[in-house]
Amino acid sequence: MTHATGGSNLRVDGEALWTDLMETARFGGTPKGGIKRLTLTAEDRQVRDWFVKACEDLGCAVSCDSMGNLFARRPGRDDSLPPITMGSHLDTQPTGGKFDGILGVLGGLAVLRALREAGHVTRHPIELINWTNEEGSRFTPPMMCSGVFAGVFTEQEVLDKRDRAGLRFGEELEAIGYRGEEICGRHPLAAYFELHIEQGPILEAEDRTIGAVAGVQGMRWYEVTVRGRDAHAGSTPMPLRHDTLLASARMIAALAEVARAHAPGVGTVGLIENRPNSNNVVPGETFFTVDIRHPDDGVVAAMEAAFQARFRAIAEAGGVTLDIVPIWDAPAVHFDPACVAMVADAAREAGFDPRPIVSGPGHDAAYVARVAPTAMIFVPCKDGLSHNEEESITQADAQAGANVLLGAILRADAAF
Ligand SMILES: [Zn+2]
Repeated sequence: MTHATGGSNLRVDGEALWTDLMETARFGGTPKGGIKRLTLTAEDRQVRDWFVKACEDLGCAVSCDSMGNLFARRPGRDDSLPPITMGSHLDTQPTGGKFDGILGVLGGLAVLRALREAGHVTRHPIELINWTNEEGSRFTPPMMCSGVFAGVFTEQEVLDKRDRAGLRFGEELEAIGYRGEEICGRHPLAAYFELHIEQGPILEAEDRTIGAVAGVQGMRWYEVTVRGRDAHAGSTPMPLRHDTLLASARMIAALAEVARAHAPGVGTVGLIENRPNSNNVVPGETFFTVDIRHPDDGVVAAMEAAFQARFRAIAEAGGVTLDIVPIWDAPAVHFDPACVAMVADAAREAGFDPRPIVSGPGHDAAYVARVAPTAMIFVPCKDGLSHNEEESITQADAQAGANVLLGAILRADAAF
């Protein structure tokens, strides 16, 4: 019998969790041991089909909303209550690892399995969620469909998004067969917990197993287009050039200086396109993205002002024009203190000393926190490495994280 505070001797099956992680890694598996499973591709459909079957095999009913978000529901004693939920994402970066997002979904599956095998019936229904397009790699921005769920984006603006090949989100969602009937967002949640790898070096460096995540740092994204003039590389003297790649290189270096001046702020240029990109032509147009982040929204605003001033000065000195378009603004997120405490208590009960931590990366939980009490659980990943095929965690840490997720869910079931 479960104790009223949520304490219990229920435990997840770590072997089965690891088997699931390795089995689903085949869908989009790369020769280097990572996963390329971009949202709304054939590989995404394959892993969704696997997920639906695995949940149904555990006695859950799976529903799909109009953005392709999947909800696997395990009934509770009082099915009129909104569900206690957990989840993450099964899509990956083009050279992604086996655990980013996937651990949160399959860790949730391990929780459902533990409840079933123990014959434990919760008061609330328990739901496991797979959010569509968390990564934002194929269709920008990230956390797109948890964003629609939370009212951050409209359904129509997301359906009209196009990838770099010009393919439309709405048609690609239809094509994989996961555009559901339920209108996205009309699905009340009592609470939401997301287990995720840290994607940073702190837990490993401090030899800690569980991070109790207090929130997510603020972040803003921009698209920058620098325009100059294509010219012959042999006949155009240096002072007469309008070289957009050279100006962009200086801007990229300036962004790094701005980030360092606002520690622990970070600034990144991760995507660049150069035209005409020919070995004997002075580049006449360069496009790149900018990503800045800091735990304090005020400092994010200061970083924005600083890098834009530096970019303008560099453009002027280089004889090129500059267009900076803000494309995404995610304010700093502060998770529900009661849910964060449930994570910390569940960690202690499982024998771990939880490390309070603020997330560097964004997560679906950051948007879900706008509509439901939310918290996250972090486990370490080797060398803090993520968005990389070498991304690596231990089976013991995966199991520990899923056990803390289970403990948090049981606490929430008792508390809400
Ligand atoms: Zn993720």
